[in-house]
Amino acid sequence: MKKYALVTGASRGLGRAVALQLASQGYPVIINYQSRTEAAQSVADEITAAGGEAELIKCDVSDPKAIEAAVEDWENRHPDDYVDVLVNNAGIRQDALMIFMQNEQWHNVLDVTLNGFFYLTRRLLKNMMTKRHGRVINMASLSGIKGLPGQVNYSAAKAALIGATKALAQEVAPRRVTVNAVAPGFIETDMTSELPVNELKKMVPVGRFGKPEEVAALVGFLASDSAAYITGEVISINGGLYT
Ligand code: NAP
Repeated sequence: MKKYALVTGASRGLGRAVALQLASQGYPVIINYQSRTEAAQSVADEITAAGGEAELIKCDVSDPKAIEAAVEDWENRHPDDYVDVLVNNAGIRQDALMIFMQNEQWHNVLDVTLNGFFYLTRRLLKNMMTKRHGRVINMASLSGIKGLPGQVNYSAAKAALIGATKALAQEVAPRRVTVNAVAPGFIETDMTSELPVNELKKMVPVGRFGKPEEVAALVGFLASDSAAYITGEVISINGGLYT
């Protein structure tokens, strides 16, 4: 039996760094992504070049039928294996002041972050519970703790993800499955590439944006056996940018 790590939204940014980190910790990694096959393949190639194992699953996490089909297909190909570490990282932002926010902007952001977490985690949780070991790590955000103007949809999705993290942690703790959230501040990825970096970094006590690898190291720790007694937590990683 092999224990896999599945990272959603792992073709770029934080998900890519998390996939590389978990591979370096010895996990065979499933790289989920939505559209950028070439980028996802290059993450897999980087892992295999370093002696690890990786495979791709292209699937929109907000589509419950697509999730079911993708997981079923993977399970058919891996009858003896299971996903021991699930990192719900896929996320989008579609910012607008609420007064101008369209229904789609509200629904799209909640669909990927919150509904995606629900569909995929529910599907994979049973195996973790049966095997009596598992890690669920949810990529929240400072926005879900503090709330940020222009991001009512995103803040709501991330705050809901934090609530779900805390509730689920209590449901599954007796089966040695931990559920935690990571709440990054500003991290250098495509998602933040259009922000006014020079202005924003003045607000950060450490004086810079974070690197994806720094967030990945935290996720790697939460996935490890050393973190077995941490559950239901939200761990901020934001250069001192407190609420
Ligand atoms: P990013 O660079 O924009 O990458 C987003 C990733 O999510 C891509 O791999 C993308 O796949 C995938 N994705 C998007 N929608 C998807 C869907 N419906 N199904 C499956 N995959 C999907 O974002 P990032 O900055 O790395 O952010 C990753 C996570 O961290 C997000 O949840 C974000 O909210 C959170 N976060 C980021 C920051 C930050 O400062 N960057 C701060 C706090 C929290 P494709 O490449 O195929 O499109």
